[in-house]
Amino acid sequence: MSDKKLRIIPLGGLGEVGKNMMLYEYGKNILIVDTGLMFPENDMLGIDYIIPDFEYLNDKADLVRGIIITHGHEDHTGAISHVLEQVNAPIYATPLTRGLIEVKLARNGLLDKAQLNTVQAGDTIQVGPFTVELFHVCHSIPDAVGLGITTPAGLVVHSGDYKFDHTPVDGWPTDYAKLADLAGRGVLVLLADSTNSDRPGWTPSEKVIDPAFREVFHNAEGRIIVASFASLISRMQQVGNAAIEHGRKMAFVGLSMVENAKMALKLGYLDLPDDLMISLDEALRMDPRQVVLMCTGTQGEPTSIMGRLSTGTNRQFDILEKDTVVLSSHPIPGNEESVYRTINRLFRRGAKVIYEAIAPVHVSGHASQEEMKLLLHLVKPKYFIPIHGELRHLKQHAEIARQLGTPDENIAVIENGQVVEFQDDEMRVTERVPGGYVFVDGAGVGDIGPSVVREREALARDGFVLVNLTLDHDSCNLLEEPEIITRGFIYKRDGDDLLENTRSLVKKAVDCGNGVQTDLEQTVKSFLYNKTKRRPMVFVTLSRT
Ligand SMILES: [Zn+2]
Ligand SMILES: [Zn+2]
Repeated sequence: MSDKKLRIIPLGGLGEVGKNMMLYEYGKNILIVDTGLMFPENDMLGIDYIIPDFEYLNDKADLVRGIIITHGHEDHTGAISHVLEQVNAPIYATPLTRGLIEVKLARNGLLDKAQLNTVQAGDTIQVGPFTVELFHVCHSIPDAVGLGITTPAGLVVHSGDYKFDHTPVDGWPTDYAKLADLAGRGVLVLLADSTNSDRPGWTPSEKVIDPAFREVFHNAEGRIIVASFASLISRMQQVGNAAIEHGRKMAFVGLSMVENAKMALKLGYLDLPDDLMISLDEALRMDPRQVVLMCTGTQGEPTSIMGRLSTGTNRQFDILEKDTVVLSSHPIPGNEESVYRTINRLFRRGAKVIYEAIAPVHVSGHASQEEMKLLLHLVKPKYFIPIHGELRHLKQHAEIARQLGTPDENIAVIENGQVVEFQDDEMRVTERVPGGYVFVDGAGVGDIGPSVVREREALARDGFVLVNLTLDHDSCNLLEEPEIITRGFIYKRDGDDLLENTRSLVKKAVDCGNGVQTDLEQTVKSFLYNKTKRRPMVFVTLSRT
């Protein structure tokens, strides 16, 4: 019996969609797979993005032997700069993924410090005691890989984000042979993407988008504006192909779109002729029927180009009558409301808006149920851990494995921070380590906790009430009428009585005792709640003269 164990430690992406980060630990060696970020939900006010909590690495930073990034999406790459501030280990990524990471690191001034290594699908690399084989998988970005990780405790297969697309835009299907090869060697545990585990059937091929775009280009009477993710390189290719076919010129709009396109062209992941692409300025001078613009902002983000176009606050150009706007994406869970609000506003400005619900202008990059079954059959793991997804997705993925005959006790449905150990071919779910949220807000990392977000929520929901008291220094008697200021709480005219009553309440309650402020805040809070059923934040300030 060996005393060393393989420990699998999910720091992000399990129990949520986003900020994927997994640690594989054996003895005094750690391999990090992905370092993602997550965009805040609507109710997380003022938060720019969320990164995994890597407190677990605090005293183990020097044990990290390497960081492998499976593909270039933000939910797998977005926290890389933050991780590098704590961990100085080599990063391994395929050329496109590396290119996307470099753009990010350069922006944060970390490019010189980072030890970047280019790897290819099909390569085998040694990271401490881990022998990692990278195999190609189809996804909504080129150059994505899954991992076969040979550890002293057994062989692990980590799918990354994947789908089984037989006709991908880049013509490079998922590496079935490698999956079968790994299965032949006996797979201890499979960790697989659960994002679409509630979707029956097969995810359509990216090819189905082509006819939809052809239709859009055929019918468009004016400009075409396509919104997508800046990392969706294959969509750039598809839009470019349609533009060539229909004699339009193409312009990329927005820094991340322009930078990523330039990088993908340089590395050969984007194959578009030079004379197809023009600058935005040129495009704006041309006949609207001869151009297509590609920009970001599919998630209803108010500060994105699409968000600004919808509110008429974009600097360089506005929506024109007869513009066709295509939202080539799927709303990330939680963003639906702002996405549909943006769509409504674009219609109101005279654009024709085409989105996923009315035409197949987007397909998912993630496997559906039948593909998940195929992966399980191909890999034949002894144990199974669903990853990437909210708890409902993980549970559903576990149910699929169960239907295919994996015994209950061989499936671990776990969430962030829950450690799983493997020793002598046995799986044990063990302790919990921190696996929560770290909020990034402006320049601050982690200085905003959940309590601050809760306060912002309360302020946004019910506003605040400020009670200002001027007391006599010695006697503690009120020297003036209490001043009451409210914002976002009640309409002034309706509130006069209520505020008058609050004032009397305060006058009666004031005394010199300790804790007058907090007591008074509580008293006012419950009084206002009884009267209005709202919970504004209440502040009492004292000045003594
Ligand atoms: Zn992805
Ligand atoms: Zn992902």
